[in-house]
Amino acid sequence: MTAVFSLLPEGRRGLLGPEEDAETYLAHGGYAPLTAPDRLLDRIAATGLRGRGGAGFPTAVKLGAVRAAPGPRAVVANGEEGEPGSVKDRWLLRHRPHLILDGLRLAAALTGADHAFVYLSDTLAEQAVRGALAASSPELRIDVVRTEHTYVAGEETAAVRRINGGPALPTAKPPRPFESGVGGAPTLVANVETLARIAAMYSHPDEADTVAGAHLLTLSGPGAGGALVEVPAGTRLKVLADLCGHGRAEAVLLGGLFGGLYGQGWPDLPLDHAALNAAGGALGCGALHFLGPADCPVAVASEAVAYLAAQSARQCGVCLSGTGAMAKALSTVACGEADQDTVENLRRWSGQLPGRGACGLLDAAARIGASLLAHFPGRVASHRGAPCPACSGVTAEDGHRFVVPVP
Ligand code: SF4
Repeated sequence: MTAVFSLLPEGRRGLLGPEEDAETYLAHGGYAPLTAPDRLLDRIAATGLRGRGGAGFPTAVKLGAVRAAPGPRAVVANGEEGEPGSVKDRWLLRHRPHLILDGLRLAAALTGADHAFVYLSDTLAEQAVRGALAASSPELRIDVVRTEHTYVAGEETAAVRRINGGPALPTAKPPRPFESGVGGAPTLVANVETLARIAAMYSHPDEADTVAGAHLLTLSGPGAGGALVEVPAGTRLKVLADLCGHGRAEAVLLGGLFGGLYGQGWPDLPLDHAALNAAGGALGCGALHFLGPADCPVAVASEAVAYLAAQSARQCGVCLSGTGAMAKALSTVACGEADQDTVENLRRWSGQLPGRGACGLLDAAARIGASLLAHFPGRVASHRGAPCPACSGVTAEDGHRFVVPVP
């Protein structure tokens, strides 16, 4: 069971509100005409809203880049969350489709786009979005595009490639979608939580700072069920662990599989892009997996990178060989069969490979390898000669440990 709750200050409207029909959404200020686009763009910039798909890029900059490009233009609501430990996007699509469609039409108005897409793989999410479209009759042309559910399908160039009729696989950058996207048009690809936050801050401008700073997070760990929570900016990770029954956790895997492992000192880390980046990690899509006392970071790293290697689109040579080699090295460590060369190779690949693939998968694998070596050198060394009980039989490539059911 995945619990759903909010830690926002009382009276603040978060995104985890009740399901609503079009009439109720309108009655609460939704779908209001955009009379002053420049003012909304300035407000988005002033709040510092960052994208919630993983990269955390400033939303106003992305909107401005598409707006400044020659038309025609397109916008995409990206609802394909490939991280196995994240449920927020599917929950939003299933339960708050009007909020997303409202954010999408605002993004279209802000960028001057005349064609919009909702990109997703989840069947219940698609039903909810189609129902909301039928009930709200938007003036903007909005198409729903289905994709398969894979780790890389949500990457923005994969979304554009799929919408253009190709496979949902990333392409090399440049060009980025804001330069050449759907049908070659400058295209804004925005995560559905990002769009929901734009809609919420437009309908309730007095709460814009709270809305822009808050995060939807998926919390998971051993034993206890997962949780989908909305929390204010700056919340300490210790508070999040306590919330979902993982107060005794000894480590955390951040950002789904994208942000790396953290050991000592993790409880005091604040939920903040800059602070986590400074600590060498990333918030990514906001999925946090806590490691309990019986968990082994070597086993978790090995399973995570094995999953990533299995999910590699196998179109960049460096990813095909590099992610596979890191998975093999980690498996060797977990099995108690690694020598010093194995560990040194893992260290070298983790440092040299980031940024060399067409998407973030290779970076995610490298960050996990690097963070394991940096934060848990003693645990790595203790596996010399024999696996620990938690590592015995580690073979999973399905990401099962990290999967959270959508509430
Ligand atoms: S880095 Fe890996 S997963 Fe990403 S596009 Fe290249 S081969 Fe595919």
